[in-house]
Amino acid sequence: MAKLNALAKAGVVNAEGFYTVGGRTAVDFANSSRRFGKEGEGLEKLEELLSFLKSMGHLHEEEASSYHMYLFQNPDRCVETMNLLREMRARFIASLDQAASGWPMDPSFVSDLNDHLEGFRTYLKIVPVDDGVELKTEAAEQGPEQLLYPILKDIAEFLVSDQVTKIRQCASDNCDLYFVNSSRNGRRRWCSMSTCGNRAKVNAYLKRQDA
Ligand SMILES: [Zn+2]
Repeated sequence: MAKLNALAKAGVVNAEGFYTVGGRTAVDFANSSRRFGKEGEGLEKLEELLSFLKSMGHLHEEEASSYHMYLFQNPDRCVETMNLLREMRARFIASLDQAASGWPMDPSFVSDLNDHLEGFRTYLKIVPVDDGVELKTEAAEQGPEQLLYPILKDIAEFLVSDQVTKIRQCASDNCDLYFVNSSRNGRRRWCSMSTCGNRAKVNAYLKRQDA
């Protein structure tokens, strides 16, 4: 727990243990196959997707609990949703690898992403919030599939942004996290200075001592 708090303070993970070095939902989603403090897949069950979306500010507590009922009403549909989500993540990661090596976007991924986006029906609604009112995008249909919307939407927004060409994977041998290299000199190599960057510095120091 102390380690989680320290990492959260350094901006490496959020309070739920999801990595936030990506700096936006799409890239954090690419990094979501692992979760700090948890063994195995970070987004295994629908509950974990609810936590992910809540921790990224895409879902309120009450909304999450209304989605929770699908786990009992239609568990198969939840499993299918999670399978689709992880499949899209794997393909998005493949696109990130291509982008990081300077390749153009994979048109079949873009086309499938478009097909999924076409399936979402949304409308705008003014809703009360703590300090007044807010304009929200609501899903016109119900079901666990709707949970994919904020993620796929941000992937689409990311793909058309200038961040695509700045995507990098951490230079550490035992870290595969993606981040957007928006450093001024373009030389950022690690997902975070407070974890991998520091470790690399310490290792380089120890090497110099050995020599
Ligand atoms: Zn790293």
